[in-house]
Amino acid sequence: MTLSARPLRIGIMGGTFDPIHHGHLVAASEVQNVFALDEVIFVPTWAQPFKKERKVSPAEHRYLMTVIATASNPRFTVSRVDIDRGGTTYTIDTLHDIAAEYPGAELYFITGADALAQILTWKDSEEIFDLAHLVGVTRPGHVLSDSGVPRDRISLVEVPAMAISSTDCRQRVGEGAPVWYLVPDGVVQYIRKYGLYRMALRPASATS
Ligand code: ATP
Ligand code: MG
Repeated sequence: MTLSARPLRIGIMGGTFDPIHHGHLVAASEVQNVFALDEVIFVPTWAQPFKKERKVSPAEHRYLMTVIATASNPRFTVSRVDIDRGGTTYTIDTLHDIAAEYPGAELYFITGADALAQILTWKDSEEIFDLAHLVGVTRPGHVLSDSGVPRDRISLVEVPAMAISSTDCRQRVGEGAPVWYLVPDGVVQYIRKYGLYRMALRPASATS
């Protein structure tokens, strides 16, 4: 039996994951299957340049929820590169770090339609396209339009529609509404154990 000589195919799913939800997981699973990826690496950010105005949960909580959510899938892993580097997280740095860990691998950077629409404003976007093939996935409420990425550097993939966002999950927890089945069971329990997102409570006057 001869071993396949094809390079490893590595998917990279960057995100704040505050918290990780089934929209992220379905997107990664679908792209893994379409491109026969050997592995999809979830990379929680440290500080997202476009989320500077927003209070984000501590990175260790976001990292651990991502580990819990992905643990059962043999093709999913989680990387600490962005968290350990610290500072503002730029995708170009993520790609350089992962490329150094997997020399010779083909990288596929997975991004939802909302993030894709901004991609030309990202730091060193031209170099991003050199390092990785972009995979834009559909997301309810956002149009997967021409992002300006060179045609041969991007693929668009329709994934099962999951109208879920982390913002909505945080809001639901704050209001005492369930997040069961929007996020994995272990993540529901983790959120409760550490009392995350309770601060998103409605103002006291809302009860009067
Ligand atoms: P927030 O509401 O806090 O911005 P989010 O749900 O958008 O959270 P992020 O961590 O910002 O989640 O997203 C990480 C990546 O996952 C982005 O590329 C985003 O477009 C993609 N993504 C998030 N939710 C979905 C979804 N429901 N379907 C497809 N892609 C998604
Ligand atoms: Mg987002």
